[in-house]
Amino acid sequence: MKVIIVGAGFGGLSAAALLAKEGHEVKVIEKNEDPGGRASVYNDQGFHFDMGPSWYLMPDVYEHFFANFDKKPEDFFELERLDPSYRVYFSEDEVVDVESDLEKNYALFDSFEENGGEKLKEYLKSAEKMYELSIKELLYKDYRTIFDFFNGKMLLSGIRLNILENLEHFVDRKFESDEARKIVQYSIGFLGSSPKRTPSMYHIMSHIDLTMGVWYPQGGMRKVASSIYELAQSYGAQFYFNQPVEKIIVEDGVTSGVQTAEGINGADLVLVNADYPFTEIDLLEEKYQTYPAQYWEKRVLAPSSLVAYVGIDREMENLVHHNLFLDKDWAEGFDTLFDPDKAAWPDKPSYYVNIPSKTDKTAAPDGMDTLFILVPLAPGIEDSEERREKLYHHILDDLETKTGENIRDHILVKRIFALNDFKERYNAYKGTALGLSHTMRQTALFRPAHQSKKVKNLYYTGQYTHPGIGVPMTLISSEIVAREIKERYG
Ligand SMILES: Cc1cc2nc3c(=O)[nH]c(=O)nc-3n(C[C@H](O)[C@H](O)[C@H](O)COP(=O)(O)OP(=O)(O)OC[C@H]3O[C@@H](n4cnc5c(N)ncnc54)[C@H](O)[C@@H]3O)c2cc1C
Repeated sequence: MKVIIVGAGFGGLSAAALLAKEGHEVKVIEKNEDPGGRASVYNDQGFHFDMGPSWYLMPDVYEHFFANFDKKPEDFFELERLDPSYRVYFSEDEVVDVESDLEKNYALFDSFEENGGEKLKEYLKSAEKMYELSIKELLYKDYRTIFDFFNGKMLLSGIRLNILENLEHFVDRKFESDEARKIVQYSIGFLGSSPKRTPSMYHIMSHIDLTMGVWYPQGGMRKVASSIYELAQSYGAQFYFNQPVEKIIVEDGVTSGVQTAEGINGADLVLVNADYPFTEIDLLEEKYQTYPAQYWEKRVLAPSSLVAYVGIDREMENLVHHNLFLDKDWAEGFDTLFDPDKAAWPDKPSYYVNIPSKTDKTAAPDGMDTLFILVPLAPGIEDSEERREKLYHHILDDLETKTGENIRDHILVKRIFALNDFKERYNAYKGTALGLSHTMRQTALFRPAHQSKKVKNLYYTGQYTHPGIGVPMTLISSEIVAREIKERYG
């Protein structure tokens, strides 16, 4: 069968590899110059930046993906477990490391509150149970109807575990200290959500980062993307870059290919990895849109962000590979991200600094560091050069104060990427970095479907679909779609 895949992000790359292996004739058409999508690369003066993902989490999911090809991740890249997993700055004077050794983390939680270690142990036990259930019953399954979901073991066990409670409430019942609460909740940011808006079943995130660990693929996340790209090519998938798809061609309710500036590309099946709202609103006629503009207007979007890629001619002494700067009033911060009435550029945001050169000597020239600074922003707010610069300087001031280190006088490379760039480079709806947030009403079967309800032979993969946001989730999304296509077409 002739398959066209629109977009070469992790969703498109992984689907290309899976479908090409099944013997389909696969063509991937990508708007930008490189594979990887949100995991693009920026190189400047010997500094190499992963522009998007930097946390390699859920190693089991990567293993599962490569096992489809009788391969292991280690056949493509070297994996290292980070220790410490990450550093947290609660304030200038309160800085803690979350370690790869759980015993040390129990001791850390004991220092936060009475019995903190025991409480963390219990919390992680519950998170592990939920994770195993999710892997078996939720993440790899496609819930096509509400009955599949309500009959699922997932929901039954979930009700026993009280999963319909929100995460904030759940965590408040388990821990008393601000520090403990923040450490078990910050990771919800990976799902483009806030503790108040996320079901407590997502406390699996603590099993993911604390128990399964934080890993680094040597060469960065770009190495993971290029590995899947090579894998897809090895099965015969063909790639075409710098060719934005302008239209999905539909004749009598059936797709017959796509149109680019170069002409028409015929296909028996079109699988879209490009952003879902952009595809529905801009590439399909209104009568063929399963989810028209009004649908997207009402969704809770995951945040956009300001990302500063900064190369400095010195090494930071007081930072490690992953560093979180968590603001005291972070609840207020979540409101400016998720409440459309309060959406605004933040005054005192929490932020994240990644320094891959701490682990990977190829990321920066000798004796220098590659800094990736990320500040979450509400999607859809106005973007301007002045606002970007103001926020960037506010963060640099804060970073210099908290680390006690000079950065400004050492900057060789600086690039800022924010809302308008997400829109322009990835056709991201309202400039969202991550797509659809993981609220209860946007989880599992409540996420946009893998298969169009209005156009035959039109499918979707990637972070907007089930199971959702993050590189591992997009790999699973493609596994689900490839399975559905196999079931349907053989
Ligand atoms: C700043 C940032 C940090 C992140 N951090 C992490 C992390 O640490 N760990 C993690 O696991 N995840 C992280 N994520 C999330 C993760 O990167 C995404 O969930 C995942 O990469 C999404 O993959 P995708 O294939 O669904 O979408 P994309 O990567 O966006 O791929 C879609 C592709 O479609 C292309 N496209 C768009 N329009 C067209 C068109 N008209 N024609 C042809 N092609 C088109 C785009 O150019 C793009 O290449 C991060 C994301 C961002 C932005």
